[in-house]
Amino acid sequence: MLVVMKHSASAEHIRAVVAAIKDMGYGARPIPGGQRTAVGLIGNDGAVDSGLLLGLDGVLEVIPVTHPYKQVSREWRETNTVVTLANGTRIGGSEVVVMAGPCAVEGEAEILELAQKVKDMGATVLRGGAFKPRSSPYAFQGLGREGLELLARAREQTGLAVVTEALDPEGADLVAEYADIIQIGARNMQNYPLLRRAGRTGKPVLLKRGLAATIDELLLAAEYILAEGNDDVILCERGIRSFDTHTRNLFDLAAIPVVKSLSHLPIIADPSHATGLRAKVIPMARAAIAAGADGLIVEVHQDPPRAMSDGAQSLYPEQFREMMEQITVIARAIGRDVTPPLGSAPTG
Ligand code: PEP
Ligand code: MN
Repeated sequence: MLVVMKHSASAEHIRAVVAAIKDMGYGARPIPGGQRTAVGLIGNDGAVDSGLLLGLDGVLEVIPVTHPYKQVSREWRETNTVVTLANGTRIGGSEVVVMAGPCAVEGEAEILELAQKVKDMGATVLRGGAFKPRSSPYAFQGLGREGLELLARAREQTGLAVVTEALDPEGADLVAEYADIIQIGARNMQNYPLLRRAGRTGKPVLLKRGLAATIDELLLAAEYILAEGNDDVILCERGIRSFDTHTRNLFDLAAIPVVKSLSHLPIIADPSHATGLRAKVIPMARAAIAAGADGLIVEVHQDPPRAMSDGAQSLYPEQFREMMEQITVIARAIGRDVTPPLGSAPTG
């Protein structure tokens, strides 16, 4: 439930509403807005009697939140959430953000070289797994802490922000020490202790849609993070399981506008995991931007056939350049722009 305050409501009126909600045994969260403040009521698992709140000074109206998720909903907050990273990259604003890098961090020389390449081509965030969730326990599991240190070195050298996955709650604390964004992978979308712990780190979280998760389940998973007081959540459509075998997953393009209408959170697309095929990544990257995605996360490798994981879906750097050129045109066609490369002169 949302208690919308009048334009003229004073700080004292807002405090009284917060106190009244707490007296009713719920949590209260003031949400300042451009026009007026609202106070969100959290912790209820059913209808709440709004009569008492409607009678308080400064209250304009009480709006029930009709979805099972609250804080992630558009009803809760009308304006888009913009996640701002330490290097100035803004996710969820008018500019489209590109995160790029290898599936897994493989070694120092490799990650430093590739980071520089994707930066020069316009990425502002470097991706790369240090802890890899592999289907087989015998497959390469990532370099662990050493991988995190290499990512931090790449950030120092390039200015790129870093996104990397945490596999468990303890890992979330460790990843938070190194990364700008904690990635929660598809297989962990409903790992609730991990969601809570990542939320408590206060770091931005990239939450990928589960392999067989509905959009509502994705939004409820995000709600766990916001419920910890962390609003910096970026959602990611990365394809879901289907019966067809021509692509690795089924890229649910419509999820992008659907999420945009249901939630104020930014949503990006991962055309690499969505398709599993290098030749299909660029067309789906174009489609995602046309559909309104706030960015892309894309796997790129200097030598994909020799990649330690996901080589078949990794772009060659030259293909990444081509993708950047094409999505720049598409972003402009819908009144957006791709975030300018780091170090370039700011536009208009
Ligand atoms: C990844 O980004 O490398 C990854 C493992 O993605 P997902 O969790 O979407 O499979
Ligand atoms: Mn991968």
